[in-house]
Amino acid sequence: MAEDVLRLEGITKSYGVGTPAATEVLHGIDLRLPHGAFVALMGPSGSGKSTLLNIIGLLDRPSGGRLFIDGHDTATLDDDALTRMRGHSIGFVFQYHYLISAFTALENVMMPELLERGRPDQAMREHALQLLEHVGLAEWRDHLANNLSGGQQQRVAIARALALNPPLVLADEPTGNLDTKSAAAVFDLMRRVSAENGTAFLFVTHNMALAQRCDRIVELVDGRIVA
Ligand code: ADP
Ligand code: MG
Repeated sequence: MAEDVLRLEGITKSYGVGTPAATEVLHGIDLRLPHGAFVALMGPSGSGKSTLLNIIGLLDRPSGGRLFIDGHDTATLDDDALTRMRGHSIGFVFQYHYLISAFTALENVMMPELLERGRPDQAMREHALQLLEHVGLAEWRDHLANNLSGGQQQRVAIARALALNPPLVLADEPTGNLDTKSAAAVFDLMRRVSAENGTAFLFVTHNMALAQRCDRIVELVDGRIVA
């Protein structure tokens, strides 16, 4: 049996350590995600969802506990190794796409490979086009990100997140600012990718109708998993 793609043991996070305003916002999170899992993270505003996602995404360090990504204990990794792991093991999708607005859809999807390999080549272009096809946007390849709708931009962001074929994709309210129909399309896309590629998804949503179509709902309240 392969390792879980994600394992958290007693993860805590405090802000302002050493100041009078020190507060613990995550109080011992245990969580396991098998490969290919499709899981919603829910909870009220301020419950620690983004903090947790940032820690899992290696954008921030936990104050305590252990975090394993694809079986690797992240505590043993130095900054370079963390950066490499972040690049290869984790894809990110945010609420506000963070596409480069002056680049085309295709160029945005090429970006992770470009950063990795330094210069664009034909193979990179073809791969990016395949990814755009996968998210149903091949015919929009040469449109500037700026000129795409919110739902299209989010699908480009998903294609970009998949560029290095990570086993885990983290998404912080990826459908948060989309209309119902676009939100459903983005959700269906993530689900299809998860099923077809075996990519695990952990994504924050406030949409109960979508969350109920996941394998599992993890509910966070005041920095604790309650369900
Ligand atoms: P959510 O994403 O569920 O809305 P967050 O993870 O953004 O929650 O925030 C959880 C708690 O941590 C909140 O009380 C927030 O004010 C606090 N917090 C988040 N980031 C910081 C920070 N950089 N410094 C201090 N407190 C923070
Ligand atoms: Mg948040």
